[in-house]
Amino acid sequence: MTILIAGGGLSGLSLAAHLVARPEPLGPIIVVDDGRRPLATAGWASWSVEPGLLDEAVSRTFDRFHVHAAGRSRVVGLGRYKYRFVRGDDLAAAVGKAAARRGDVVFRRGRITDIRQAGQGAEAIVDGEVSRADWIFDSVHRPHPARVDGWLIFRGWHVRTADPAFDSAVPTFFDFRTAQNRGASFVYVLPRGPREALVEYTSFAPPRSRGVAYPQEQRTALREYLTTVLGVREYAVTREESASLPLSASAVDRRRGSILAIGTKAGLVKASTGYAFQRIQADSAAIARSLACRGHPFDLPTPKARHLLFDATLLDVVARDPAQLERVFAALFDRSSAEPVLRFLDEESSLPQEGKLFARLPPSLYSAVRRRPR
Ligand SMILES: Cc1cc2nc3c(=O)[nH]c(=O)nc-3n(C[C@H](O)[C@H](O)[C@H](O)COP(=O)(O)OP(=O)(O)OC[C@H]3O[C@@H](n4cnc5c(N)ncnc54)[C@H](O)[C@@H]3O)c2cc1C
Repeated sequence: MTILIAGGGLSGLSLAAHLVARPEPLGPIIVVDDGRRPLATAGWASWSVEPGLLDEAVSRTFDRFHVHAAGRSRVVGLGRYKYRFVRGDDLAAAVGKAAARRGDVVFRRGRITDIRQAGQGAEAIVDGEVSRADWIFDSVHRPHPARVDGWLIFRGWHVRTADPAFDSAVPTFFDFRTAQNRGASFVYVLPRGPREALVEYTSFAPPRSRGVAYPQEQRTALREYLTTVLGVREYAVTREESASLPLSASAVDRRRGSILAIGTKAGLVKASTGYAFQRIQADSAAIARSLACRGHPFDLPTPKARHLLFDATLLDVVARDPAQLERVFAALFDRSSAEPVLRFLDEESSLPQEGKLFARLPPSLYSAVRRRPR
């Protein structure tokens, strides 16, 4: 069988890696990308218990977080979890190496303008020419999820400071000591060393915001955080990145004939966190397993209804009362180990474990849920 992967970003490369890792050959694979999101500037952080297939691409590993919420600062251990960071270039190199061992993967530069069903298979229009395949995995073409329940709007600065300013061993998972005028907002800090870090101003915005960013306010918030909260006197911004991610807490219909949406387009960004890396790894492994064992890629786990409900409820409450996000995060992470929370966010917790977590949530959250307009 012939496989075409539309987009060689995180989900396209991860799928290619999982396909070539299967013991049985699955046929030639073509990965098409037009380079609009250069891997040289991409990078993803995520948490997991076990190292994954792409672990050789991990460049930084952490076992604790700083958290700052509701006037309290603490360092939270991650228990059995590790927080890992993968650079785009390192991911591409790891996947390229695995693909070279198999020899039937082609990475092609090209712009895809259409993907459609064609007979028993599917076809993509790449630089104006038709490219046919038995299966197409689409991370580029499908529109965003039909239902958007919120937006994660962020702007990050890669900064270098004159004096040591960052704890190089401990990222800041969230710090609410920042402007809250555009929705529930916090700052995230991923250190590279004592003088270098990515400092990101992140807001959960309601659906009506349409994901429109507000660059000047975001930059002001970043400046204030660096100078007022961290007390940095001299710094240089070496690079800026920004994005608005649509968050959807509904199951996405991913399949269209022989075409399957992957990555963000498949709704794999977790609506209550904005993280997708581990979900994309699990999804890629499931697709490869389904292709190998069933001859089609559709035998995939379905999202659990109660987790979708939690995500939808959180986004809804936060859209109506942004201050709830800080209260919820403060309550969830007020513990010495974040392990139970991370397990819950990974949707791997049991009902009794969730009962214990929910019992610690602030009563104001439950009142806000009850106030929900019908
Ligand atoms: C700035 C940013 C930071 C993020 N950080 C994290 C993080 O730390 N941890 C985490 O878990 N999640 C993170 N996410 C969320 C999510 O993991 C990423 O968006 C992830 O890259 C999604 O993978 P993807 O394959 O769907 O999209 P992408 O990685 O964006 O891949 C899509 C690819 O398609 C290519 N492309 C697009 N259109 C075309 C076309 N017409 N023709 C050919 N090629 C095309 C692009 O060049 C790109 O390489 C982040 C998202 C953003 C935007």
